[in-house]
Amino acid sequence: MNSYQVREIEAKTGLSRAALPDPFFTCLYRSISPYRGCTNNCAYCDGRAEKYFVEGEWGNDIEVRTNVARRISEDIDRGVHLRESGSIGTGSGISDVYQDVEAEYGLTRQTLQALVPAGLPVCILTKNALVERDYDILSRFPSVLVMTTITTVDPDLSNLLEPGASSPQQRLGIVSSARERGFSTGVMAMPLCPFLTDTPENTHALFTDCAKAGAQFIYPGSLTLRPGRQKEHYFKILTEKNPSLVQRYTQLYGENRQSGMPRLEPIKPLMRQWNDALRTMNMPSLIPHSIFKKHLSLCDTVFVLLCHMDSLYAHRGIATDALKRATKRYATWLSDQRTQLRRKRIRVSPSDPFPITRTLDDELRYKATKAELMYALFDNERLAHLISSLILNDSVFDYPSLSQMPG
Ligand code: SF4
Repeated sequence: MNSYQVREIEAKTGLSRAALPDPFFTCLYRSISPYRGCTNNCAYCDGRAEKYFVEGEWGNDIEVRTNVARRISEDIDRGVHLRESGSIGTGSGISDVYQDVEAEYGLTRQTLQALVPAGLPVCILTKNALVERDYDILSRFPSVLVMTTITTVDPDLSNLLEPGASSPQQRLGIVSSARERGFSTGVMAMPLCPFLTDTPENTHALFTDCAKAGAQFIYPGSLTLRPGRQKEHYFKILTEKNPSLVQRYTQLYGENRQSGMPRLEPIKPLMRQWNDALRTMNMPSLIPHSIFKKHLSLCDTVFVLLCHMDSLYAHRGIATDALKRATKRYATWLSDQRTQLRRKRIRVSPSDPFPITRTLDDELRYKATKAELMYALFDNERLAHLISSLILNDSVFDYPSLSQMPG
């Protein structure tokens, strides 16, 4: 158990929707976390970065929003969850909802209990095996995605980089147990740290063990180090534990980009290698279409799919300018339509609990039957044809083969 200091505060927000789903988590409802700060204390955590305004000593000081579950219950009583269907995210970039403080406060469990009556799907991302305690509540959601982050299966490297999190073996156990419970599950293999966990030996062992545990996707990503507290902390650990790497990191992150991105020339081929390795295992390198189509409306599914296609094609060195333009066009259409519908008084009934979602999806389904309407929507004939075909055949886009498959 890690030591920590708690500061109790009141949550100002509860359940809220975005105009477009988050392509990373594939959630429409903004992510909820009862905690701010994280005792997992990962060496690479960008929650330390100044842009997140987390006060106190990272890894030790935790803000606890004691009223989150009550706020969510109030929101559900007011019907905030009605009219639009979509997945709710739990977790954030600046906390783990199952870090040690959860064993003391139990607020994530209370939050899940409060969310059940909304009848919406839920996504969880955690590095802590405590999530397994809550499988009984998760079983009451219509659809569940349990994700865990694993960056190495080497316990020593994990201790160095993620000292407060559950061990890699326990995290592989989350994948297996989630699968056994019938939840969708996969691994965020990020950040893969240069010269430590991004080596071919590490990624091979990591990908193989995740696949054996039952992961339905493995999403790799490289390390970003934002100038300021995050970068300084990482370099401090490196200087103490791996001084021979300091110079190589100084070169790689010497541009000091605000995004924390390293020089791209050495990273791009690595990312391609990870994606190629996963493709040979027939393993999706992003949350696959077959999973997020269970969590999102048809309209939102198409948006996330377009974003994912951009990334998948780019990794294979295929130009994506036309795809980017089509995605932007579609995103504008979807958010405009949604904004207009949200302004209207639309009646909800037991037989029609999500009328905004139904209206948007009906319109897109209708367009899919008319080639000229789909073409006008995307301004891209091939893409319009593919999306129409996916909709009309209720099929999925398979990421390893980049082709349409039965749903
Ligand atoms: S688990 Fe996530 S939020 Fe917590 S310290 Fe690690 S990277 Fe940061």
